[in-house]
Amino acid sequence: MNIILLGAPGAGKGTQAAIICDHLKIPTISTGNIIRAALKSGTEMGLRAKSYMDEGKLVPDEVVIGIIQERLREDDCKDGFILDGFPRTIPQAEALDKMGVKIDKVVDIDVPDEEIINRLSGRRVCEKCSATYHVTFNPSKEEGVCDACAGTLIQRMDDHPNTVKERLQVYHDQTEPLKGYYEKQGKLSVVTGTGDIKDITRMTLQALEA
Ligand code: ADP
Ligand code: AMP
Repeated sequence: MNIILLGAPGAGKGTQAAIICDHLKIPTISTGNIIRAALKSGTEMGLRAKSYMDEGKLVPDEVVIGIIQERLREDDCKDGFILDGFPRTIPQAEALDKMGVKIDKVVDIDVPDEEIINRLSGRRVCEKCSATYHVTFNPSKEEGVCDACAGTLIQRMDDHPNTVKERLQVYHDQTEPLKGYYEKQGKLSVVTGTGDIKDITRMTLQALEA
């Protein structure tokens, strides 16, 4: 099954994707993680993306579309995948359609802006495996250490409150219209993204099975 997780930054897409991909045995593709890895290894694409990311803006469509086109060609995607953080604009969604990529289900994880601010300010990510935690809502067993791989947990540069406001604005302006795009295609389910992580997983899996 080919799945898109939609939602604001901090809605819980990465958290849910990690659980669901384990469940369905399909990979998660996060454009944000791919760009951060490129930046870490100093590639030209990574360096080009950095200024956009640091300001909370979207990286240009042609860059992320190129990333996705290449990634979806890989062998592990042939039985399905979960897209986390792509598409984020209507032209990106149109590019997927033009590539002939068939999307089965789109789940929008719905979280109010006030809650997003709380979540992103306490988010910690593993610098090694990208697992996501929250200092209060979803802490690692040992502070600063990843449960999954024992890597170091860090705070993302773009989770600073000033950048978060810009990212939310960008989300409402450029990404939220995708709900209408996929609703028209009959693929959209909306899941309430507040409350227990396990309950949200249950509702998301139900939406995928419907
Ligand atoms: P996204 O991938 O949509 O940007 P994340 O999965 O990284 O969002 O989640 C954002 C932050 O909120 C993380 O710190 C995560 O641990 C926390 N979080 C995720 N789901 C919930 C939830 N249901 N309740 C409280 N905090 C959550
Ligand atoms: P994320 O990890 O999904 O929160 O993404 C972090 C940042 O990477 C975003 O704020 C953008 O700057 C960039 N990015 C990730 N995915 C996309 C996308 N599909 N389109 C444009 N920019 C993206």
